[in-house]
Amino acid sequence: MNYCSQCAAPVALRIPEGDDRPRHQCQTCGQVHYQNPRIITGALLTTGDQVLLCRRAIAPRQGYWTLPAGFMENGEGADAGALRESWEEARAQGTLDGLYTAFSLPHINQLYLFFRGTLDPVAYAAGPESEAVALYAADALPWDALAFRAVEKTLRYWLEDRRAGAFPTRHETLEADPRFR
Ligand SMILES: [Zn+2]
Repeated sequence: MNYCSQCAAPVALRIPEGDDRPRHQCQTCGQVHYQNPRIITGALLTTGDQVLLCRRAIAPRQGYWTLPAGFMENGEGADAGALRESWEEARAQGTLDGLYTAFSLPHINQLYLFFRGTLDPVAYAAGPESEAVALYAADALPWDALAFRAVEKTLRYWLEDRRAGAFPTRHETLEADPRFR
């Protein structure tokens, strides 16, 4: 950040009074421009033993498979955002059962949230950000072609939890993983 969005004067990186870390602060009007993690919300929609995946048509990770997910918008709930992304990327609708996995990614300042739910009677198609959309059986998931570690972890938990018959909500903090560059 170089200029203040309030008054257009230059900003400087400094520790504001009473704070404990450097912030972008306007040198003219004093406005502090906080930068905080971005939230990505998505859905694990299943039907029987199959899960809905999208092959990404855009960077990053073009050509790799993902659960439908994207940046949460202002003015919406995370669950509504997961359903919106499912529609935008996979033209799919579903009924959510609740929050399933949450992953903090401090190295890229993101928080991933995945909700688990049931895909509405099968209708889906690739949206503009997807090259393809498909239902994958639990025993045939594309492990070598997944887009993100948070997606891989969520699918692994889903396999384990299906066997156990219970789907607890989990949170983990993930570090950078060179397999997903
Ligand atoms: Zn300013």
